Amino acid sequence: VTSTRSAAQRRLAEVRQRIARAAVAADRDPADVRLLLAAKTMPTDVVRAVVEAGGDLLGENRVAELVEHAPALADLHPEIHLIGHLQSNKIAAALPWVSCIQSVDTPTLAERLSRRCAALGRDLNVMVQANVSAEPTKHGTMPDDAASLAEAVAALPHLRLTGFMTIGANSRDETVVRSGYARLREVRDEVVGSGLPGTAAARELSMGMSGDLELAIAEGATIVRVGTAVFGPRTRATAP
Ligand SMILES: *Cc1c(COP(=O)(O)O)cnc(C)c1O
Repeated sequence: VTSTRSAAQRRLAEVRQRIARAAVAADRDPADVRLLLAAKTMPTDVVRAVVEAGGDLLGENRVAELVEHAPALADLHPEIHLIGHLQSNKIAAALPWVSCIQSVDTPTLAERLSRRCAALGRDLNVMVQANVSAEPTKHGTMPDDAASLAEAVAALPHLRLTGFMTIGANSRDETVVRSGYARLREVRDEVVGSGLPGTAAARELSMGMSGDLELAIAEGATIVRVGTAVFGPRTRATAP
């Protein structure tokens, strides 16, 4: 674990440098871009090493991994967001461990989350996930529907809409990737500018991963979700 930790420390520093350089190049304050560590498929001791090295925001794709990692890291108090598809029958298991669910992509899921939070007497931060590339393998509402879904989510009790999430186009063409991220920013601006109840705080743009975080930051990302660039290659296959 000692070598895992020093490797993680080194890669964490490298990624923070990439983020800082990209922010400066885009005339933005590097402090306005948070690094979320995408922990999918990683063993708990590896995730722990990265959190100990200073990673304070974790993203989990699967509830099964969330409930494995989170209790073992509780003493370190990382903030944990769910960034993968959430099935309704996993809501109860996920809620105790997360402060935000970034992957809300249907009104039904939002209503179920709101009702569950009401029963628990708590509030929950959520983001609306849009599928800006329209690739059929990806979850998320279509970009044309994202603003109306967000406005409906923002109006629900116990949910606090904090922003928008997307997985970028799987393309080598930077123009294609960037235009998808620009689209999400436009949706965000439309919703924040709507003046509708609960929309004023929806400023976050969670977009960009190991391979394209610079492009996302250039288009306004406030959270980049990084897995392999910090953790190294994944050994187990997984669907996003
Ligand atoms: C895996 C994953 C990431 C991180 O991907 P890397 O390419 O390993 O940085 C980010 N967001 C989501 C939703 C993911 O599933």
